[in-house]
Amino acid sequence: MGLTDIRSRIAAAARDAGRASEDITLIAVSKVQPNERVDAVLREGHRSFGENRVQEAAGKWPDFRARFDGIDLHLIGPLQTNKARQAFELFDAIHTLDRPKLAKTFARLAQETGHCPPLFIQVNTGEEPQKAGIAPDATDAFVKDCLALDLPVHGLMCIPPAEETPSLHFALLRKLAERNGLKQLSMGMSADFEQAIAFGATHIRVGSAIFGERETPET
Ligand SMILES: *Cc1c(COP(=O)(O)O)cnc(C)c1O
Repeated sequence: MGLTDIRSRIAAAARDAGRASEDITLIAVSKVQPNERVDAVLREGHRSFGENRVQEAAGKWPDFRARFDGIDLHLIGPLQTNKARQAFELFDAIHTLDRPKLAKTFARLAQETGHCPPLFIQVNTGEEPQKAGIAPDATDAFVKDCLALDLPVHGLMCIPPAEETPSLHFALLRKLAERNGLKQLSMGMSADFEQAIAFGATHIRVGSAIFGERETPET
């Protein structure tokens, strides 16, 4: 457990896959973690973090940004259209572009502000009704629509169903990205980031394995 251990596991998984570990961004998922733990990881020199709620990120990251340079903050949770403007201001990347209405809102904001963070399209690889994301067979068309809106789509993101073998989902996400010419893959969490690296993950989202179990349940 902890950052050093995760970094060496990333290096080992990258080596096994014949990949360079510099090509894998470790996003430390700090949602609902006490600020002291986040502070400790920042003091260890880590700079890429992930949050799943705009409100929570707005409450803690301006302060950390004032104290530490080079913070790279990723939104990894569902985004309501009415919070898109705030998300543009707070985050350096958004991993949860998951519906046409949000794409249109992003395009409008990009026009208005002259800026848009790098985007990942979330794909519901398990086709779970309760989960956000574009269905796999609708992904090609959605990528085209987003590119037609001039959105900076860098890659795809998925959260595999808890009870299924994650590798199948990682393989599917990679296939969808490859055939759409997208280079980045946001996949892999505490329990399966090594497998995700084997399947080409460029961004892994690791929370509890770095910070310890979350004390407050997610909402
Ligand atoms: C919470 C969360 C993670 C991190 O989960 P851990 O199992 O704690 O590593 C990764 N991705 C998303 C989208 C999350 O919401």
